[in-house]
Amino acid sequence: MPGSTVDFSARAANVFFHVLTRCNLRCRYCYINPEAHGRRRLPIEAIERWLALLARRSPGANLVLLGGEPTLHPDLPRAVRAARRLGYASVTIDTNGYLFHRILEKLAPGEVDAFSFSLDGAAPETNDRLRGKGAYAACLEGIRRARARGFAVSLIYTVSAANAAELELLGPLLSGLGVERLFLQVLGLRGRAAAAGEAGLRLSPEAWRAKIPAAAAAIAGRGIRVVAPRVFLEPGEPFVCAGRTADNYFVFPNGRVYRCPLCEDHPIHSLAFAGERLTERPPLTERELFALEIPEGCVMNRLVQPDTLRYTPEGPPAYRIGCCLIKEEIPPRGDCGRGVEPWSR
Ligand code: SF4
Ligand code: SF4
Repeated sequence: MPGSTVDFSARAANVFFHVLTRCNLRCRYCYINPEAHGRRRLPIEAIERWLALLARRSPGANLVLLGGEPTLHPDLPRAVRAARRLGYASVTIDTNGYLFHRILEKLAPGEVDAFSFSLDGAAPETNDRLRGKGAYAACLEGIRRARARGFAVSLIYTVSAANAAELELLGPLLSGLGVERLFLQVLGLRGRAAAAGEAGLRLSPEAWRAKIPAAAAAIAGRGIRVVAPRVFLEPGEPFVCAGRTADNYFVFPNGRVYRCPLCEDHPIHSLAFAGERLTERPPLTERELFALEIPEGCVMNRLVQPDTLRYTPEGPPAYRIGCCLIKEEIPPRGDCGRGVEPWSR
């Protein structure tokens, strides 16, 4: 892994703001957990206040507005404009493609850096098995409409055993749709995925290494920017926990603010919104866990999804798990890698 990737991403400030938790879909491995994240739609006045507090704390952060399905929030355009006024470096909206409340007509391309659409299969039946009937058609239709109105479009693809083989088909699909960036994500066992015991959908290190880098490089060769986490570190590769070095905020409508998404099922958030203030919570929170050095790499992976680990007969781990927040741009075959901003969860 190029050293610059870690350094660059580790310096970025990113706010992932869940404006509500409600969604029209029920994806098989949705990470939203209403018990932990609340059920309310955050009023626009609170969104504006919280955005201002975060902007004061981390000026020039990248902002991702998400949910649930964030376009179900009728005041999303007002949230975008507030973020612009407050000086956020970029504003992205993550969506499942249904684009409620005529959002494309209420925003101009200059106000949003990108709409990021979630798709989990290059074939309709694969995606819809994971995300629900009709989700594929709605997503592609949403992408086409967004492109037609001049918006930049990214795609988020959560790689699993159910769809890894279809990465080869994804390149031509994305080229045809005019998608500019692809974020590959590793499946996290949180929310519904944890409750449903979806560990079997995760790729083994061998399967990841055999399939994903080559397929990602082929897509990058089409001129699409491909961004992926370093899931399994090679021996000797540096391990960095973004929780210790970076400035990420995962904000939920019940006021919880996490620094690491793997913690989100548990009440160990570092910060909380209370009234007019954003306050650091006393120990024990995720913050104290980030400081632990373990041979397995990511401490939260060890705690919340230990079945992703394997050990050698002598005892040490067979591999280390990298930080899912630190991502790199996959170069087309033969090029050198370079660091990127982690603009997707
Ligand atoms: S993963 Fe996203 S689109 Fe799917 S149910 Fe959860 S919030 Fe909705
Ligand atoms: S995913 Fe692991 S390595 Fe990354 S911030 Fe969380 S605890 Fe740290």
